[in-house]
Amino acid sequence: MTDFAEPAEYADLRAAIREITMAHGSAEYAEHGRTCTPMSGLWNDLGKAGFIGINVPAEFGGGGAGMAELAMVAEESAAAGCPLLTLLVSSAIGVEVLNRHGSPQQKQAWLPRLADGGTKVVFAITEPDAGSNSHRITTTARRDGDDYLISGQKYYISGVDEAAAIITVTRTGVDPLTGKAELSLFLVPIDAPGLSWNRLEVAAQIPDRQFTVFYDDVRVPATALIGAEGQGWLPLFDGLNPERIAAAAIAVGIGRYAVDTAADYARSRNVWGQPIGAHQAVSHPLAKAKIQVELAALMTAKAAWLYDNGQAAGEAANMAKYAAAEAAVAAVDAAIQTHGGNGLSVEYGLMPLWGMARLLRIAPVNSEMVLNYVAQHTLKLPRSY
Ligand SMILES: Cc1cc2nc3c(=O)[nH]c(=O)nc-3n(C[C@H](O)[C@H](O)[C@H](O)COP(=O)(O)OP(=O)(O)OC[C@H]3O[C@@H](n4cnc5c(N)ncnc54)[C@H](O)[C@@H]3O)c2cc1C
Repeated sequence: MTDFAEPAEYADLRAAIREITMAHGSAEYAEHGRTCTPMSGLWNDLGKAGFIGINVPAEFGGGGAGMAELAMVAEESAAAGCPLLTLLVSSAIGVEVLNRHGSPQQKQAWLPRLADGGTKVVFAITEPDAGSNSHRITTTARRDGDDYLISGQKYYISGVDEAAAIITVTRTGVDPLTGKAELSLFLVPIDAPGLSWNRLEVAAQIPDRQFTVFYDDVRVPATALIGAEGQGWLPLFDGLNPERIAAAAIAVGIGRYAVDTAADYARSRNVWGQPIGAHQAVSHPLAKAKIQVELAALMTAKAAWLYDNGQAAGEAANMAKYAAAEAAVAAVDAAIQTHGGNGLSVEYGLMPLWGMARLLRIAPVNSEMVLNYVAQHTLKLPRSY
């Protein structure tokens, strides 16, 4: 029998994350979104309490837990009004890739620093001319003695200004049998010579900033390679699944926040002699959003369980990310509509959440590519592209 009751320690964990996040709150988040400045105060507080590095193994000073617990950090902070994008890249991809595929030296050097959140790593795969098709990336790494030289360009890379290193996906060759790109991942220190970046402004009110990153013959030692040269697809997917699970968890949290906030408002706002929540045109979208968010939460928990138990998690992680992002957008939209004019006000803080929810339908993978994945891999339908 599947046990759906969360153990008591999870309730305590959720409460502790919530308490820390509430001390900062949605108004602070909205202000950071408006000014495009990272929520360092909340990040540091969660880090000191051990939540940012909750999935870092205990031997490296972390919480020794897994994706299920990291997803709770992502969900609860978002449900308290503060969705943290950097959890996706630093805690989910960074920690999981380094822990599963990093060399002993890389783990020793980086995991203890990631454990308290004092250090962040970010992740760069997206390129202007490749988009969703990672096979087309042209950022290249070539061997030069004991080093590699990396050349190319990435864009929409989040949090470069906060990071100590960028996990960079490069092309190091072409598979002679399939003709597909052979990928290699490198941990590129932010101060590596030849690395530069420009701010890429986005209109969505998100605290973390995005950048175009230029690699101009960036020299890194061969020890910066994560895993084996040309075998980058494995660590890549081991990083993308946690990223999708964390993204799903953030979206579930946003959905919960939106539905709860709107239900509160609909219970108290009275314009025709009864609360607006008595009108089904108001209550049904919220009820529907609640159902979608709860369903997405179940799939997110399943995906995290599969990943933590060493089972194939790609399908569930994709489904969770899809369902949660769609649910979050619908929930925030219903919440805005429920608030009427106040839905657009600065005071009620819903528009910044709309930006983040809307982003999650596009990144880290767009909803259409998830549907493609399910059509091809789950339903065995022919590929259209
Ligand atoms: C705020 C923000 C932060 C980001 N942070 C990062 C980061 O930290 N690191 C990183 O590497 N990237 C990051 N990204 C990039 C993000 O992951 C990509 O934008 C996303 O994967 C989609 O790629 P694209 O923009 O090139 O879209 P494209 O590939 O150009 O696709 C455009 C649209 O076309 C449709 N489409 C494309 N291909 C297909 C297909 N085969 N079938 C059906 N429809 C299709 C989809 O609707 C898609 O949304 C970020 C993006 C944003 C906006």
